[in-house]
Amino acid sequence: PRPIKKAKLVLLGDVGTGKSSLVLRYLKGEFVEFQESTIGAAFFTQTVVINDETVRFEIWDTAGQERYHCLAPMYYRGAAAAVVVYDVTNPATFSRAKKWVQELEIQGSQNTIIALAGNKADLLEARQVFAEEAQTYAEDNGLLFMETSAKTAINVNDIFYEIELDHLVQ
Ligand code: GDP
Ligand code: MG
Repeated sequence: PRPIKKAKLVLLGDVGTGKSSLVLRYLKGEFVEFQESTIGAAFFTQTVVINDETVRFEIWDTAGQERYHCLAPMYYRGAAAAVVVYDVTNPATFSRAKKWVQELEIQGSQNTIIALAGNKADLLEARQVFAEEAQTYAEDNGLLFMETSAKTAINVNDIFYEIELDHLVQ
């Protein structure tokens, strides 16, 4: 059998956007209304087999608090992929997501795949960031983009699967 590849995946984005919830949904198929906020960063692994290739994703779920910002490069440096999460009900988190993308483009590794996730897409009434705007931004910046909901599970497996596929074709 071929050796197992390792790939680092990091989640970035404001506190409260649903990073930990997306990871919990992806890894365990669960959702909790009162997800505890992450301190520093949490670490998970997920081994996936795609097209006969086995990859062990090492997932870093960062806190998102500004006071931990200085630690972020440790998590995104050398990452195969970064998922930048914003909350579709909160425009400030979309601005913050753009800042993360900028930082990754300037200081991140050349071949890090960047995926933008507009999370909480289930909150239809409260939506303030429109998909078209984020889609255009993502296209202009060469990002994968999906609106997700950790609550209803919409697009959660899909966005991680897209990342995995992109990683394997690189
Ligand atoms: P993090 O700080 O980015 O890790 O965010 P959390 O995963 O801790 O989520 C913050 C809050 O938003 C929690 O109360 C979650 O239950 C809630 N939440 C996360 N994702 C969703 C979602 O897709 N839809 C809704 N309605 N709530 C969500
Ligand atoms: Mg968290």
